[in-house]
Amino acid sequence: MFENKERTELSSLGEFGLIERIKSLFPIQNKSTLVGIGDDAAVLDPGNKKILLSTDLLLEGIHFDLAYVPLKHLGYKSVMVNLSDIFAMNAKPSQITVSVGMSNRFSLEAIEELFEGMRLACNKFSVDLVGGDTSSSIRGLVISITVLGYADLENIVFRHGANNRDLICVSGDLGGAYLGLQIMEREKKIFLENPSIQPDFENKDYLIERQLKPEARGDVIEAFIKQKVKPSSMIDISDGLSSEILHLCKASNLGCRIYEDKLPIDSLVSSTAYELNLDPTVCAMNGGEDYELLFTAHQEDFEKIKLIEEVSIIGYMVTKEEGACLISRGNNQYDIKAQGWSNFIDKD
Ligand code: ADP
Ligand code: MG
Repeated sequence: MFENKERTELSSLGEFGLIERIKSLFPIQNKSTLVGIGDDAAVLDPGNKKILLSTDLLLEGIHFDLAYVPLKHLGYKSVMVNLSDIFAMNAKPSQITVSVGMSNRFSLEAIEELFEGMRLACNKFSVDLVGGDTSSSIRGLVISITVLGYADLENIVFRHGANNRDLICVSGDLGGAYLGLQIMEREKKIFLENPSIQPDFENKDYLIERQLKPEARGDVIEAFIKQKVKPSSMIDISDGLSSEILHLCKASNLGCRIYEDKLPIDSLVSSTAYELNLDPTVCAMNGGEDYELLFTAHQEDFEKIKLIEEVSIIGYMVTKEEGACLISRGNNQYDIKAQGWSNFIDKD
């Protein structure tokens, strides 16, 4: 699925031709990039900072379905989710490498769509593409991205570090990406049963966008600098709030209280959840792929946090003995369980 309809076989350009095309799409933007694509290795200059490094592997059929994911969006998202991991350490990403394996089912135009999406994501946060590897695969598309960032040790925020009674905060709103996926899967099923029926995404644009085009929250990291706050612990939400808050609790050896009525849920998320017979709170707690930031902060930073747009305070940390619980609107207390979706669990 891609917009450019011409078809140039990758074999007519060759691996080196393709790499040249990629190189021309990504002019270097960072001082820390001394040498990018073209030699046997990139040469980077971290100055006197610490290096942050993270890698993701994306496999067709496991992590994405090209039946409803346009290649440009796939490129954009695959870069964004990597950048999100560096932001989640309170640092800025500087370089990425991209390795792709693709079958001959993909034309040059298709691969250019993929890299165009990657270029848009890189440009949004001035990140350089400095290398990678390119190979054919027997079946399907494989993408592996590595991201690098640099930061002073005292500015890095880990999953550990939260204190008892710290505020629990989250950026943006939750559950949208999960519902976007549900809508696309519903329409795919209808289409497979009756190809003459066109998919109906009417009024669901926001949810589809949350799923197909997540935005890593570099703006929130900027806001921390501006407000002079440093979270005490942080993680990005890839597997759902329940699962991520439990990571923060475990790493910090604490428990938590999260208030259902404080969860940031968009009205379209609520209405669509009801339409699909789902509970909006469950979607917000367990739906994955929102790529928002979940962090804790000292109570003294309350006023500063309130000045950061798009951040909600949803609860506070407690001792480990008090457990990790959600307080419902009716004031009932429920244990939080990790129910983020797992690649190893059958989804049918
Ligand atoms: P080698 O045979 O030494 O692995 P390659 O021919 O694979 O070298 O790569 C040549 C250059 O092109 C290297 O700088 C490499 O990092 C870069 N490169 C290869 N594939 C990609 C890609 N998919 N994206 C970005 N750079 C790439
Ligand atoms: Mg190579």
